[in-house]
Amino acid sequence: QAAQEAQERGWHLYLVGGAVRDVLLADESQPLLLEDVDLVVDGFHRAADVGAGVTLAKALRERYPNARLDVHGAFQTAALLWHNDPVLDSLWIDIATARTEFYPYPAANPEVEASSIRQDLYRRDFTINAMAARLTGRRGEALPLLDFFGGMLDLRSRQIRVLHANSFIEDPTRIYRAVRFAVRLGFELEPQTQDYIQYALESGVYERSLGANTRAPALETRLKAELKYILEAPYWQRAFQLIGSLGALRCLHPSLKLDPLLWWRVRLIDRWLRRFDPDQTLKHWQMRLEVLIAHLEPQERGKVAENLQLPIDSIERLQHLGQAQTEVVESLPQCQRPSEVVLLLRQYKLPTLVLIAVHSYRAIRRKLWHYFTNLATVQAPLNGNDLKRLGYKPGPHYKEMLDALLTATLDGVIQDEADAQAFLEQ
Ligand code: ATP
Repeated sequence: QAAQEAQERGWHLYLVGGAVRDVLLADESQPLLLEDVDLVVDGFHRAADVGAGVTLAKALRERYPNARLDVHGAFQTAALLWHNDPVLDSLWIDIATARTEFYPYPAANPEVEASSIRQDLYRRDFTINAMAARLTGRRGEALPLLDFFGGMLDLRSRQIRVLHANSFIEDPTRIYRAVRFAVRLGFELEPQTQDYIQYALESGVYERSLGANTRAPALETRLKAELKYILEAPYWQRAFQLIGSLGALRCLHPSLKLDPLLWWRVRLIDRWLRRFDPDQTLKHWQMRLEVLIAHLEPQERGKVAENLQLPIDSIERLQHLGQAQTEVVESLPQCQRPSEVVLLLRQYKLPTLVLIAVHSYRAIRRKLWHYFTNLATVQAPLNGNDLKRLGYKPGPHYKEMLDALLTATLDGVIQDEADAQAFLEQ
């Protein structure tokens, strides 16, 4: 339908990017389900048609009133979205007008001007993502694949290759994307592309832009999005190792490296989270990211978390982690009775305690593990309702009574309801 609408207006319509790659990679054993489709309109002659992508999306919306239409004026793009549609299920179609992006300074936000499909493809990240299939044409005509940069060859030889030497200087998120595609597809980073990554990392361009105003806020958002994508994927460990071996954690902070201790900590926190947060009430990908940030000097952590626009509770956790760690490491060994352990540790939430655990020496870690497995879930035999039922007048003293009951339960003084009643009567 989209092709027909474009054809009627004398435009060309192309399927571009990841969808072309995935169609070419698909085999019969694994049916391909496209949920995210990028289209580009090209071939118009009048200046008024620079908004062709938006015009086309609006025309399609009239045919499919179920779709939601989002227009992004600044980038001349529009999106059509179907969510739980009876026929299309969930589908997201982005329609852009062929464009060139130029970078006024490194690592900045792309600006846009109308241009041709070749230039549109040239601004993309990797050859395998820079192919287009033309959807418009004469009836019966074989629809051509546009492959200006050797994408097909790289798909066959399973290589991730950038289109030009400055690619990573322009956009550091491409390093993370390269890793993501390499690991997800089982491809290799083409050797010269690896050299370009090294060159970009060593050029200092990211360090100079870190925290400085030259680094566009959109860059941080995209960096976080790529990190999230990687850290929540089933293949996150392999991707993380590859990022580490490239030295690409430097994009987050100049001193951040994947040393053996950090590698051990990210895997350890995973074990703790699987054990103590099996329902994933916490965002595990974000906790992995927090371990990375916590590997920095305490005074650097909050800044990096802020730069990455992590949620406020995460920023605060990282800012105060050093202090919480000192308190726990100093006080926990002094606790004699189980109730003292609970009194100390219940001031902290689960994410803070697991971060402390992976940053502590073994004896502390053991005590924290014991706290989570044996103590944190202990309840007194009576609750507030029971106190009411037993005739105690409600009031602020309830808290005191319940705390005393919990303490006595934890320390083994009382075991059941009868013990608890006797304890209260004393
Ligand atoms: P996925 O299947 O993981 O969504 P995708 O290739 O569709 O993969 P997107 O992040 O949706 O990835 O991006 C769509 C297309 O936009 C890519 O195929 C690529 O051509 C282009 N692209 C995305 N991010 C960048 C970038 N940072 N630099 C250059 N091109 C990019």
